[in-house]
Amino acid sequence: MPMRLTGAASALWSKIRPRGDVLHPALALLAAGLIWAGIGLHLRQDYLAGGGLLTVLVLIAGRSLHGQRARLLAGRAALTGTLENISQGILMVDARGDVAVLNSRAIELLGLPREFAHSRPSFRDILSWQLENGEFGPPGSVDPQFLEHVLAGGLTEQFSIYERMRADGTVLEIRTQKLPDGSAVRTYTDITARRANADALTTARDAALAAGRARNEFLAVMSHEIRTPMNGIIGVAGLLLESRLGPTEAHYGQIILESGNHLLRLLDDILDFSSLDAGRVDLNDAAFDLRDMARNAVDALAAEAEAKSLDLSLVVAEDVPRQVAGDSRRLRQVLVNLVGNAVKFTGHGSVRVAVARLPGEPQFPGGPDVVRLGFSVGDTGIGIPPDALGQLFTGFTQVDGSISRRFGGSGLGLAISRRLVERMGGTIEIDSTPGVGSVLRFDVLLARAPQTGDAGTSEAEPPVEAGESGCGIRVLVAEDNPTNRLVATRMLERLGHRVDSVVNGLDAVEAVRTTPYDLVLMDIMMPEMDGLAATSTIRALPGPRARIPIIGLTANAMRAGEAACLASGMDHFATKPISANRLADAIGLVLASRAPTIRNSPVRALEVCALDTG
Ligand code: ADP
Repeated sequence: MPMRLTGAASALWSKIRPRGDVLHPALALLAAGLIWAGIGLHLRQDYLAGGGLLTVLVLIAGRSLHGQRARLLAGRAALTGTLENISQGILMVDARGDVAVLNSRAIELLGLPREFAHSRPSFRDILSWQLENGEFGPPGSVDPQFLEHVLAGGLTEQFSIYERMRADGTVLEIRTQKLPDGSAVRTYTDITARRANADALTTARDAALAAGRARNEFLAVMSHEIRTPMNGIIGVAGLLLESRLGPTEAHYGQIILESGNHLLRLLDDILDFSSLDAGRVDLNDAAFDLRDMARNAVDALAAEAEAKSLDLSLVVAEDVPRQVAGDSRRLRQVLVNLVGNAVKFTGHGSVRVAVARLPGEPQFPGGPDVVRLGFSVGDTGIGIPPDALGQLFTGFTQVDGSISRRFGGSGLGLAISRRLVERMGGTIEIDSTPGVGSVLRFDVLLARAPQTGDAGTSEAEPPVEAGESGCGIRVLVAEDNPTNRLVATRMLERLGHRVDSVVNGLDAVEAVRTTPYDLVLMDIMMPEMDGLAATSTIRALPGPRARIPIIGLTANAMRAGEAACLASGMDHFATKPISANRLADAIGLVLASRAPTIRNSPVRALEVCALDTG
């Protein structure tokens, strides 16, 4: 429309002009009016449209701004709500050192006046207030270095975390993180309960460790205290039985010996169980002949089986390697325990022991060639009710008190066996039917040892003849207990040696210094100077006397006893009660190991003897 009006005015104007007439004022006015009207109408409509558009834009922008403000307000409210309700105290310091955020929890945890929440203090104002109010100790007694740090603004590090206990006992964990723009955020967490729990746990752990140490100490002392008199009982009973006795006296002597040995087994069980329980048992790793070990374990129960007319048999499968490496003594202990139980709880019939190679042997690349051996001990005895099977391996468990009283036993054998078998990488299980019999099976992992041709470390203890392990060497016995001194002296004499004795470590050192002995049997616990100190002193003597072979004799069966003996310089150590066989073995072992070094030794008799035993 505006275009058309403007076009009409232009046409009118062009009609007048070509004629060259003077423009009629009315016409001109009309034309101008029309032109103005055309142009004006055109512009006004444009303006109106633009204005409308602008209004719409302003309205949209306004609405968006309003929405943004509402969202900002909501966000701020949420932030304030969060800051005010969070369990941590939060303080934010801007780059100028003014506190931009300080939530109520921070005010509460630090015990600050409430005004600080609104007055926008500087961080230094807060620190000064804390200093004045004794937050860091009585004013004047604050560590000058810390004071300097505080007065410098207290926010020097990029990140820090520390704990501080307030005067009221509250423990705060304070973390500070500096931000790239120079501001810093600090959080305060109340860790009083956490710290108390941690302290309680530490105290409980320390108490448990102390109790464990006390228990070990107690066991060591008890072991020593019980073994010392038992050494006397068993040793003297043995000596007695070797003398000329009437049948009644021999019978009584036999009872004393058996009772002593029984008591010793119980003591060993209790010590073993507690050592295994405390993880203090180290397994040996030496080559041995598996068939010999198994045969020897079964033979140990042969007399008992024979007395009950039981058929006791052992079958070792063809593919079981002859030489293996592991702890033969502990393996034998497990086997003897199981075969012993089988014989004990079987009235008639048989006890069958079998050893076989099992599948599932692990491969250790570059490591030893490992075999998994399965042992089974089956009997036709009284069996075990199903409800009792579950607790058998837990310790101190006997199926029926009256039966156990009849048969004897500590109820620890299977628990010890299980722990030993597990230490050897295997498991143990039982199948049993009351009135029919039981089968106990266990497996262990053993390294395959090279075939040496020799019999390995057989556990058999052949009877010792007098003089077998020695050739009349000169032995010094250092032992304070008169009974044990007598036992050791007589045993050594029966082995063919010449014996002198002393009653403490000091006398032992003096005797070694002045007399050319070939070997010392040294008790550990003695008055004046104990066996360990005496050994160290002897090792420090000038000349060849310092190298005299020393065998420690201890009533302490704990592992630590052995370590202490060897550390003091002893060659070997044996636990009481010592039998003639074990004493002969120990002497033979020590002399054989010394053979190369004593060849030119002035200890003359020893060389002769070592050559004999080696
Ligand atoms: P203990 O020294 O009392 O024999 P063990 O731990 O070796 O202790 O055995 C625990 C109990 O398990 C025994 O007292 C007995 O009741 C039962 N038991 C073990 N082996 C057998 C078996 N072969 N036949 C029947 N009962 C057995």
